[in-house]
Order: sequence, then structure tokens, then C-alpha cells
Amino acid sequence: MFEKILIANRGEIALRIQRACRELGIKTVVVYSEADRTAKYVRLADEAVCIGPASAKDSYLSMPALISAAEVTDAEAIHPGYGFLSENADFAERVEKSGFVFIGPRPETIRLMGDKVSAKHAMIEAGVPVVPGSDGALPEDPQEILRIARNVGYPVIIKAAGGGGGRGMRVVYTEAALLNAVGMTRTEAGAAFNNPEVYLEKFLENPRHVEIQVLADGGRNAVWLGERDCSMQRRHQKVIEEAPAPHIQRKLIERIGERCAEACRKMGYRGAGTFEFLYENGEFFFIEMNTRIQVEHTVTEMITGVDLVAQQIRIAAGEKFTLRQRDVQFRGHAIECRINAEDPFKFTPSPGKITAWHAPGGMGVRLDSHVFSGYSIPPNYDSMIGKLITYGDTREQAIARMQIALSEMVVEGIQTNIPLHRELMQDARFVEGGTSIHYLEHKLSQRP
Ligand code: ADP
Repeated sequence: MFEKILIANRGEIALRIQRACRELGIKTVVVYSEADRTAKYVRLADEAVCIGPASAKDSYLSMPALISAAEVTDAEAIHPGYGFLSENADFAERVEKSGFVFIGPRPETIRLMGDKVSAKHAMIEAGVPVVPGSDGALPEDPQEILRIARNVGYPVIIKAAGGGGGRGMRVVYTEAALLNAVGMTRTEAGAAFNNPEVYLEKFLENPRHVEIQVLADGGRNAVWLGERDCSMQRRHQKVIEEAPAPHIQRKLIERIGERCAEACRKMGYRGAGTFEFLYENGEFFFIEMNTRIQVEHTVTEMITGVDLVAQQIRIAAGEKFTLRQRDVQFRGHAIECRINAEDPFKFTPSPGKITAWHAPGGMGVRLDSHVFSGYSIPPNYDSMIGKLITYGDTREQAIARMQIALSEMVVEGIQTNIPLHRELMQDARFVEGGTSIHYLEHKLSQRP
């Protein structure tokens, strides 16, 4: 096992990784930008290194700063968390070339999955069903593009091969709008992702977002740890996640889960990963793979009892991966609400000082957050300040516990989306379960 790990991230996930390290008896090096100097997890770390100014570009995204921090502290491995450099194949490569272990898949795998066109290709080869669409990137010839879209059938969605974080996508309903939309998405993708390549797929009108968690050892052992339903979204960003996904036949989940595990064996996938699908009319369609730990990994942990971050570290350290599919048992139901510092209905960010913070508690309640009373949320990063997770024997019990936890929770000094979550936990359609990815936006548009 490693003696010391550098955590190349911030906020709640930096604390989450630190906790896993403590449990495994590993020392942690936490890096921080000037804006995060006073964070509690920074002070709690065995060692802390300032890697630059507030701007992420010069700190959490700076490969030389991170690698020198690992060098000066003699860390053996680097955990990238999620976001920032976690899915950057060049970073993974530089980490390994500098003699450290990258806690994640091999750089080639990250590169293959990071390009959504090559990822879809790999899935087709591995026998995983994908959303119907163009065979690879769209060509230059406008007539060809029109022909491809006609074959797929409208509406279609144009997506950037290098896209991520809900950006670089455009829905097209009519042929008249197609070529202009392709042109605009190409230009944006070139500027935002440094890769103008775009592809096209059928725009599914009423799907749910259902994803499969996997763990694999880079060789023949790969297991899937159930699914998560992440359909409650705004602007393609998840707001609530849960496991298991309500009202889907277990045999359908088992079939797709097994496909994902088999794809991992074929790719020699190493570490934790997530296969994201759209689910409509009893069918799964792959959209992308995330080669890192995800924000919503917690709901899987609650229903399986498997510590996914600890598993990532054990696999990276080369410990024998002994988990077998039959050891993965699902029990109960878990729901996660992402707590964001923002206006609950206008969604404008609300950074600033938290003057009062009261955490909820009780049976089946988990709060993963780095914040506390007196903490100042810097304006420079993502607005998520924590995750509230509840667990119950049944979905009804998990919802009831979430309602109670949300009613107990107090955050003063800034605005949060807690009022939105309170409303959603009472929403008849959510309580029934199985709403589509468009439900939340539709509901918000109906508000007076
Ligand atoms: P990103 O990498 O930016 O998160 P994804 O490919 O995972 O992009 O898509 C994000 C979200 O966009 C999905 O959860 C879904 O809500 C929507 N989406 C993506 N592809 C389609 C599609 N073919 N039809 C309908 N919605 C889609």
C-alpha cells in the first residue's frame, strides 16, 4: 500500500479522498490555491502545499505545479478526484512519466473515452448498445451531413467529440436549421475543447439518465455495482441522483451491467468508471463513459457497502482485487441532493461567507461537505458545496429521511438550492419515480 498520496483537487471530494486515505493508513498531501488557504481539510492534511493563485488555470489545472508538489513532498501517487485534470490523458501520462502512480485508468483508456466519437466506437465493438447516429465524426460535405441526419431522423443532437460538463451540444428539429447548427457547434467546440470535431445522434425526447458503476483491475476481473438514476437535471447538469433506478426491471439492469463489465475486460479497464446511458422504452443507449470517480458515487456506496474511493486506491496500489460479482449485494435505496451555493430558482451563484451552518443527522443520513460556520465560499469554482445523502430500506423511507434532513439543515449568509430540493422531495411525479431528463426544466418553466 502507498505511504503518501497527493490529492489533486479541492472541496468536498478532497475531503472525501482524505478520509479514505486516513482509513487506509495513508498520509495525505493536500494542494490548495490561495483562495482555499483557510479550508479546514487543508489544515487537517498531513501536509499542504500552495500551488498557485485562485484562478483554476494557474492552480488546480496546472500540471507543473501539481507534479512539483508531489516531488517536494515525496508522494507516491496522485488522486485526481473529479473535474479539473481527472479526465486529462496528458496529465495521467505526465504523472506516470514523472514516476508517480496515477489513481485511475491507463492514459490510453482515458484518451479513448475522452473523445466521445472513439468512445462510441469502442462500445459498439464491445457489444454495448449506443444512441443511433453518425458513424463517427461528421464529414465536411454539407450534402453528406444532410443525408446522415435524414437517415437518423429528426430531431437530432449535434455533440462535440471533446465535449463535457453539459457543454458543446445543440438540438436540431428541422433540416433547415441543421447546417448552421453544425457550423456553430464546430466553432464553439474548437474554442472550448480545442477540437472542432462534432458528431450527430438521434435526440431522444423522453429518456431517463441511467448509469452503471464499474470497478476493474486492468485485467480479467471487472464487476458492476448497480445503476444510478440521474434524470433530475438542469442544463444537462445533475441535481438529484438515486440508486437503484425506480421501475426498471432487474433483468434489464443485470443484462446491461454485465455488458459493461465485459467491455471493461475487453479494454483492460483499470479502476472505477461509469458507463452513462439514456434509457427509453425499455432500452439502454450509451452516451459516454467517465473514467473517474463521480460526484454521485455515494449512492452506490450506500446500497452496496463498497467504499469506491478506497477501492480505487487499492487497485492503483496493485493490491489483488478480490471483489467478485457475487459479493456485490444491493440493499435498500439511497438518494443524493447536490447542495449548491446559488439562488434556488434563478440559479445565479451565491459565493460568500457562511454565517451559520447546521448539519442534519440521524439514521441513514450522510453529509459529505467541507464547509462549516464561518467558511467563505470562493467565487472561483463550481457552486457545489456539499452532498446530502439519505438511505432507507425502501425508496419511500429514503425520501422521508431526505425530507426530514432538508428541514433540519440550516445554511445562513449565502443562498442555497435547499428550497428547491425541499420542493422536489414533495413533488408528486418525483415521489412516484421515473421522471425523464426534461422533467425539472419543464417544472421550472411552469413556475409563476
Ligand atoms: P457531458 O459529457 O457534457 O455530460 P453527455 O453526453 O453525458 O455530455 O450528455 C449530458 C446530458 O445531455 C445527458 O444526461 C442528457 O440529459 C443529454 N443528452 C445527451 N445526449 C442526448 C441524446 N442523444 N438525446 C437526448 N438527450 C441527450
